[in-house]
Amino acid sequence: MLLLLSETNSSESAEFIAEYLMSIKTLKVLGLFSGCMCVALLVALCTKHVARIIPKLSSICGSILIIVSLLRSAFLLHYFDSAYLDNYKYSFLTSCPIFTLINSLWQYDSLQNEALQLVDTINNYEDSEVIITGVEENDLKIILVVGESFNKYHSSLYGYSMETNPLLKQQKLAVFTNVISCSNSTSQVLKNLLSLSSFDSGAAWFERPLFPQIFRNAGFKVTFWSNQFYTKTNGNAWDNEGSFINDDRVSASCFDLRNVKGSRYDLEFVNDFFSSYGFEEGKNELLMIQLMGSHIDRRERFPDDFCKFSINNYQNNHQWTDRQIQQIADNDNSILYNDYVLNEIIDKIKEESAVLIYLSDHGDETHEFRDCVGRAFDFDSAEWGDKVLHNQVDIPFVIYVTESYEKTHSQKVKCINDSVDNAFVTDDLPHVLLDLASIQSLYFDPTRSLINSEFVVRKRFVENPQDFNLYDYDEICSGKDVF
Ligand SMILES: [Zn+2]
Repeated sequence: MLLLLSETNSSESAEFIAEYLMSIKTLKVLGLFSGCMCVALLVALCTKHVARIIPKLSSICGSILIIVSLLRSAFLLHYFDSAYLDNYKYSFLTSCPIFTLINSLWQYDSLQNEALQLVDTINNYEDSEVIITGVEENDLKIILVVGESFNKYHSSLYGYSMETNPLLKQQKLAVFTNVISCSNSTSQVLKNLLSLSSFDSGAAWFERPLFPQIFRNAGFKVTFWSNQFYTKTNGNAWDNEGSFINDDRVSASCFDLRNVKGSRYDLEFVNDFFSSYGFEEGKNELLMIQLMGSHIDRRERFPDDFCKFSINNYQNNHQWTDRQIQQIADNDNSILYNDYVLNEIIDKIKEESAVLIYLSDHGDETHEFRDCVGRAFDFDSAEWGDKVLHNQVDIPFVIYVTESYEKTHSQKVKCINDSVDNAFVTDDLPHVLLDLASIQSLYFDPTRSLINSEFVVRKRFVENPQDFNLYDYDEICSGKDVF
């Protein structure tokens, strides 16, 4: 919990509480314990010896806490069904508050150590070979758009029966069919997406530089425009809104421009960049946009104009309730809105010499094969681990190039179009971006660039953000049905 608090912001926390902690099951458990505590208090009051027990209050409270902790674990295991417990990897030990407190403190400490080591890596970064090769570039725009919680099986670009991507379908896109995210936690993905390390290389994310630093070293202006992690005007070097990315030392070394606030809807947020700043003429630029996408709670992600799908549009093959089907419809509506936002971004860059990559940070579940909404972590389930992985990490990944970019990079565009079926995991994304910008660096490895003719297929590991174990995606999923 401490780790999550350090990597979240107030609006995300409120939605998490609303979606998970305020569920009927949780409220029932809380109600039961509140009732027990009230009864205990009444008994104590009835004894009329309250004054006598005050000096012993601390030891009594400590004992109650331990007993309640143990009782909570017992009730949790008894009350929730096995699928729920497997999903969140609960056991008697891991659901005990004393254990979770110690574990949280350990994880929080690890996070701070990682950030300190990242600062060391950034300070020691030397890259004498960083140059731009190929055609002379002085007005190139690379745009990376990172979406949120977009399961590709809800995209009509990937064959979904609902038309959730009508506008992107009309664009000339390279649609990549076999890309997975390296985790299903936003912050874990962001770390490994930015770092030149990869899970299969053995180096930790903080032991390699972040690609924005290399782009800046190559003369690019780098903007990070995030609707999730923004700086506060009165922010400190290390605050509770954005983890490592908001550390002043990291931010200053990686970015020329960042936003100080977000918007309720992604389109307002994107328009804010183009109306307030936009691109500079005659300057190579890397623009990184991070959207809210389909982040839980999905109904909060799109305005009323995008309520296209409703419970009447779905066949109820699983006997879901109206509420469950509405959750599926809300997810699809959020993807429909995301389609509109991406199309607007493409319209804004059309006249530039530009290339855009869109991917989602990870997937998500919305009752695809079981009663589950949001993230799940039971990758090792013998019953359905492959289905969990498919839905949690199979993501949309598309590349759009403008006419102007295609004219001067025809060979590169051919390579992009020839690579759409390559098996790729997103912890190697920095190599793709360096490749698109033709940046030569000590850290660039063409065999890790999805769009390079030298690309080599590797083992694809997915990190479980709960236990930090790595899972071999292809070993678990190959040849298995998604649903
Ligand atoms: Zn996410």
